[in-house]
Amino acid sequence: MASYDFDLFTLGAGSGGVSGSRRAASYGATVGICEDSRVGGTCVIRGCVPKKLLVYGAHFAEDFADAAGYGWTVGETKFDWPTLIANKNRETDRLNGIYKKLLSDSGVKLYEKRGKIIDPHTVEVGGERFTTRRILIATGARPVAPEIPGIEHVISSNEALDLPELPKRIAIVGGGYIAVEFAGIFAALGSEVTQVIRGEKVLRGFDEDARDALTEALVRHGIQIRNHTEIARIDKGPGGLTLMPESGTPIEADVVLYATGREPNTRARASLYRANTEGIGLENVGIATDKFGAIPVDEWSQTSVPSIYAVGDVTNRLNLTPVAIAEARALAETLFNDNPTSFDPTDVPTAVFSQPPVATVGLTEAEARVTVGAVDIYRSRFRPMKHTLTGREERTMMKLVVDRATDRVLGCHIVGADAPEIIQGLAIALKCGATKKQFDQTVGIHPTAAEEFVTMRDKLPDPVAKAAE
Ligand code: NDP
Repeated sequence: MASYDFDLFTLGAGSGGVSGSRRAASYGATVGICEDSRVGGTCVIRGCVPKKLLVYGAHFAEDFADAAGYGWTVGETKFDWPTLIANKNRETDRLNGIYKKLLSDSGVKLYEKRGKIIDPHTVEVGGERFTTRRILIATGARPVAPEIPGIEHVISSNEALDLPELPKRIAIVGGGYIAVEFAGIFAALGSEVTQVIRGEKVLRGFDEDARDALTEALVRHGIQIRNHTEIARIDKGPGGLTLMPESGTPIEADVVLYATGREPNTRARASLYRANTEGIGLENVGIATDKFGAIPVDEWSQTSVPSIYAVGDVTNRLNLTPVAIAEARALAETLFNDNPTSFDPTDVPTAVFSQPPVATVGLTEAEARVTVGAVDIYRSRFRPMKHTLTGREERTMMKLVVDRATDRVLGCHIVGADAPEIIQGLAIALKCGATKKQFDQTVGIHPTAAEEFVTMRDKLPDPVAKAAE
């Protein structure tokens, strides 16, 4: 049998790369990993973690205001953006150190350099070549923006997390996860926020009731939404930046954030945000990427080259950190523990940390109508108890999508406080195939918002039947 320097060599030390490498090493594999940015990847260094810290920081503004209804007199409050950013950086530095230690404690050899595939069993890292039985590509994704005139003046979410000061006016282009999350952060902290979206409402692909509820909430939170708007160019002048829409009035801002999606880190491209002049060597092994630049893989995360595997955002399946981790661990089980495991992509819960947050698991109403046909819809909209005393015009929306034929709950959707915390438990119920009857038999916890999920009794009228009347 051929001998190699490593059993597995991983390109990219983000959530997927680190967890797959550690799991492989725990089964006795010799593992190397390389990273040319910071160990921890998008989620830990410039995504989920720092973003959530900013969400916490931003929420205090509302909490201080709400305290009055409960009898508190809060003195003058002041917010200091550089303090929040410095504290956030201290935490990401700490996590970066922990990730490195986890790798070394598991016996994974880390190379803090860029890696490239030379052939199906060779990688080159910072000029040094290593042979390896298998290669795992976990290089993640990077922000993309349309190449319109003036795009060089904009920032991506990477820079938004490290702005030197809080912008007075910020325009955010896009209506997906990242755009609504940053709109919420900056609006709560006092920036004037204009969100520019191409469609009618935010979060395309989510349940329509959730989209409506969040779009309304963003407006209530002072975010100016410019819908049906496409930006043709961005001009820089002495007073700041001007976004020129294809039609309608220009939008003035001090900072323009583009959150218009991400693309897999596979190919050489003069990325707008990061000079990425070299690809990862896919051409050396004949792996063709799809039109988005993603690496096609089978259910075992295997590419068209048998010794090469890929997990996480670089494969553009479900671009979520816990999914990358699950795919990577399944791969390590398959390759190094004689335990063939493939990741099951059904009923993956997800949350958007907007203000208020959105959380969802399972099918949207529209998807369910296409997939199973007849569905029963239960929906509740209410004012959260907390706000009976604060006077804040906040609303929570909860919705269940149920298969009429089997009574199985196919989808749960929430827009409102604590939505991500609530949906995690519901995801277990869906994974277990819970029926509406079993939801109804479950005793609620009173008084909570979550109890609404086990007390919804009245179906919405069937829209098809109604239309036929
Ligand atoms: P998304 O794919 O979620 O959203 C992209 C948005 O940009 C859409 O609203 C899209 O509009 C809009 N858009 C795309 N191209 C253009 C254009 N040329 N002009 C104007 N608007 C445009 O991308 P994000 O960047 O927000 O997030 C990337 C991924 O990262 C997410 O899909 C998610 O998987 C992951 N993520 C997860 C988070 C979480 O779990 N909380 C947080 C952040 C990111 P349209 O709908 O019209 O196409």
